[in-house]
Amino acid sequence: MTDHYDVVVAGAGPAGAQCARDLAARDYDVLVLETEAEAEFPRQSNKSTAGTFPSMMASFNVPGDVVMNYTDSVVLESPNEHYVREQAGAVLEFAEFKQWLVADGRRKGAEYRFDSRVANPITDGGEIVGVEYAGGQEVYADIVIDATGPAAPIARALGVSDLERNNQAIGIEYEFEGLAIDHDEYADLTDAMMLRLDHDLAPGGYSWIFHTGEDTAKVGLCYIQNESHKGYAREDFGIDDYLEYWLDTDPRFETASKIEGKMHRGSAHIQMPGRMSTDNFMAIGDTVPTIDPLWGEGIHKCMESGRVAAVTADKALTPANPDTSAKNMATYDDLWHERVAPRIRERLLMTQLLYLAPNDRYDRLMRDLQRADDDTLQQANKGSPMAIQRLIHASDLPILADFARQRVDATSAGNRNGAVAAIAKLFRN
Ligand SMILES: Cc1cc2nc3c(=O)[nH]c(=O)nc-3n(C[C@H](O)[C@H](O)[C@H](O)COP(=O)(O)OP(=O)(O)OC[C@H]3O[C@@H](n4cnc5c(N)ncnc54)[C@H](O)[C@@H]3O)c2cc1C
Repeated sequence: MTDHYDVVVAGAGPAGAQCARDLAARDYDVLVLETEAEAEFPRQSNKSTAGTFPSMMASFNVPGDVVMNYTDSVVLESPNEHYVREQAGAVLEFAEFKQWLVADGRRKGAEYRFDSRVANPITDGGEIVGVEYAGGQEVYADIVIDATGPAAPIARALGVSDLERNNQAIGIEYEFEGLAIDHDEYADLTDAMMLRLDHDLAPGGYSWIFHTGEDTAKVGLCYIQNESHKGYAREDFGIDDYLEYWLDTDPRFETASKIEGKMHRGSAHIQMPGRMSTDNFMAIGDTVPTIDPLWGEGIHKCMESGRVAAVTADKALTPANPDTSAKNMATYDDLWHERVAPRIRERLLMTQLLYLAPNDRYDRLMRDLQRADDDTLQQANKGSPMAIQRLIHASDLPILADFARQRVDATSAGNRNGAVAAIAKLFRN
């Protein structure tokens, strides 16, 4: 007898596990294949700072037990300034969160197989009909979903994923105790998630301190290994060196020490997704990639992508004659652009622009944000060209011209209006 399911999901991360929860709740036979061993799950995949917001918690019924600390504000720091925005959030214990996703999926009827690394698609007539896993085992399904994050073995083999190394963001973080969370020289980070724009510490990226209660916090940094990074990088410095440098130079860490065994490391691609589905197949979460390019919020986005994949599978499998053709599965691509990551192109452009700006421009951005109404930041964050333009100054011409030169014919960027128009044109296209 062949091993057959309605849906097989590769990867028990936020995207795959959420997709399985939704499908199991609709009574589909769903199997999740996870490469790690259950006894230590998640180990290598325990990679996330796991800062999130009430919208995610409420949308997916996440219980309070997996929350390390509820936060009240988001703080943006630059080398010499900061900006505080009141905003409720939650820092999760990522490992416990992943374990809860698995347990809840099982309660709803999903089946999990650990120690089950998915290696290759099984195809019939050019279409995927199953996967090979755990060194030669086979399982078949009407629909296969790749939710393995940046690994993407099935999506790559089917030519659906085009993740490029040049667009890869890498991140590292440690959990600390003994931190001066309310240091005189800095903003009070009590119950805050802080993101710092400072090329000295994270060239072409950002660093963070997320308060996890009392004198503890998650401290890390990430950057995209691209031109902006190279322009600001130090010779012979790797990501661990930058973190050590920050720890050595910031007085908030003077009495801090690393909590043993609490290190998280990972990567995600920051780029425009191409095709996300084909016959009998969808790629979800960071396989696509789905992480928010600007601030790295991946958990909510990836779970949303899992949800719209479940909606698509339900639509394809419900009729008396199921239709899992590429045309029908493309519903997923449409829903992804509509519900998961609207205006992704604009947000990617804004990300490139932000990480190109020099440190003194970050100080000015903080001063602008202190003066701007809350709506401006919110709208700019959503990729609104109007709101972005409100944060752009005449002195930004060199950055804009540099950016425009990289993106469009430089001659169109001869003055501020020309440069802004060039950027605006990009946003419209
Ligand atoms: C350092 C760092 C900090 C972050 N901080 C935040 C944050 O504060 N807030 C936030 O919202 N997001 C954050 N993110 C992003 C977020 O963690 C990711 O976007 C999210 O985890 C992606 O979910 P996913 O399910 O797509 O993939 P993953 O989380 O990558 O899960 C993939 C799963 O597939 C498994 N797998 C891999 N290969 C195979 C295979 N061949 N066969 C079977 N299984 C396989 C893995 O073991 C894993 O369990 C952070 C990321 C990093 C790296």
